Amino acid sequence: MIEREQIEMDVVFVGAGPANLAAALWLKKKIAEHDEFIEKGFKQGNKIGEIEIGIVEKGPFVGAHILSGAVMDPIAIRELMPDFLEQGCPVDTVVTEDAAWYLTENRSINAPIVPPPLKNKGKYIISLSKMCEWLAEKCEEEGINIFPEFPASEVLYDGNDRVIGIRTGDKGIDKEGHPKDNFEPGVDLLAKVTVLGEGSRGSLAKQLMARLGLMEGKEPQVFSIGVKELWEVPAGNFEEGKVVHTLGFPSDTQTYGGGWIYGMKNNVISIGYVTGLDYKDPLIDPHAEFQKFKTHPKIAEILRGGKMIKYGAKTINAGGYWTMPKLYSDGVLLVGDTASFLNGQRIKGIHTAMKSGMLAAETIVDALAHDDFSSKHLKHYSEKVNMSWIYDELYPVRNFHAAFQQGRWPALINTGLQFLTGGLAWGAMPKEHHIAGHLRMEELNGNFKHDAKKGLGPNDHLKSDRYRNVAFDKQLTFDKITDVFHAGVAHNEDQPSHLRILDPEVCATKCAEEYGNPCQRFCPAAVYEMEDNSTTGRKEIKVNFSNCVHCKTCDIADPYQIINWVTPEGGGGPNYKGM
Ligand code: SF4
Repeated sequence: MIEREQIEMDVVFVGAGPANLAAALWLKKKIAEHDEFIEKGFKQGNKIGEIEIGIVEKGPFVGAHILSGAVMDPIAIRELMPDFLEQGCPVDTVVTEDAAWYLTENRSINAPIVPPPLKNKGKYIISLSKMCEWLAEKCEEEGINIFPEFPASEVLYDGNDRVIGIRTGDKGIDKEGHPKDNFEPGVDLLAKVTVLGEGSRGSLAKQLMARLGLMEGKEPQVFSIGVKELWEVPAGNFEEGKVVHTLGFPSDTQTYGGGWIYGMKNNVISIGYVTGLDYKDPLIDPHAEFQKFKTHPKIAEILRGGKMIKYGAKTINAGGYWTMPKLYSDGVLLVGDTASFLNGQRIKGIHTAMKSGMLAAETIVDALAHDDFSSKHLKHYSEKVNMSWIYDELYPVRNFHAAFQQGRWPALINTGLQFLTGGLAWGAMPKEHHIAGHLRMEELNGNFKHDAKKGLGPNDHLKSDRYRNVAFDKQLTFDKITDVFHAGVAHNEDQPSHLRILDPEVCATKCAEEYGNPCQRFCPAAVYEMEDNSTTGRKEIKVNFSNCVHCKTCDIADPYQIINWVTPEGGGGPNYKGM
């Protein structure tokens, strides 16, 4: 039995992303306002006073695991800190020009009118990683405790279903699972309220949703993956402040996908491609889709003479309003991308994540004032969300992603109709129409089905018609290993894999035959490989976990749902500084 230190806090936030950082700052501010009102006799209830607030973060520093496009709508940060610019918020550039391009294989059609949801003029191009680093400094100035390298590995309960905090991961376990000389047991952080803001497919949120049935009566969450590179390009190739979104090439009409190019300061551009993780063709490789996107003449021209400087990939929770879990339970709240707060139509979630955190903070102030952390009080969070501009923004686009599950052309018609009807549309009516992505993947067919009997290797799909013309020349297009090097990934190799395959036999048999082991393709970091095993005479799964960029795609997209992503030892993972 391991003896663990217990630290008593009042509020613990899991994940130092925009939702939780905004929540912690707002909590401090609202407690001060509350206590001032009580002192002046303007309000009834208990004074709260000083409380202990902790934010645990699995990365080595705040921002290390944060990746986004990103164009930020400043509505939430203005509420949080009206003088955010004067206070030094590290925005990169103001958006000065919007464009929407439809790409065919060789041509680009500039939309004469940019669809309203993609209008960004006056908003800010940012590095979300830098912004979170800065918000964390603001938190520390307010006396909020930030614990980097502290991955939360488990939710703690009171013996029933009331959440009483989290356990952080043990350090110093070798790859066989034995303690090493430097073994340090994880600590139990006990809290009156625990807030889960772990980003897309949070590993604790997944445990919690399953145990407490938080998705009951909701539609399944659906996800996309964004694969991104930062490039330095020659002056004049792409204007600072310009924001382009693309539709079409290289996605097929059954696969949700689109690209972005954002012009930042000093001739740096953020370029990336989003692929819906509800695609049908098991040969699709989101990293290769992005590489193919860059071969389009219009895009290649922008990158000509430039240099790739950074790489990353991350999933986003794309389903929106119908796919939000129940947002509260006894002792716990869910915020940000973990809880589907992203607006898929605008491809924006920073502002809604921050606002969700701020509403959670207001709910916690009320709970502290009444010394009641049960659902009875915490349910006000859900009510606050539905009374806020989050609802006004997300409800009208509630059917956006579901429409794309019917294919691109019906979806575009639907999107137009949804825009005119406040979200109601033909073919995408409000209930039970999001289908979990892993259920939509179809089995291999044709030649690939035949090859799959021998087992598909990690790069066999690159010979298919879909990717045959991508050169992977390490100038314009990169293989996964080269890209992963630019993600700065590091994990201690002498630890148990944080990618738990619940039944490797399925990988070697059923999955090889039916889907050709799609983990080899959907992982953007070359973590999974089917390797010849001379003893068994078949291909078996090999997990290169040290490459993992923590995007969570495998946990989401595996058709058998037998990959469980758990937190590795603290500090391991990508280094997304500046992404
Ligand atoms: Fe993403 Fe899973 Fe690959 Fe890690 S192993 S990079 S979480 S798909």
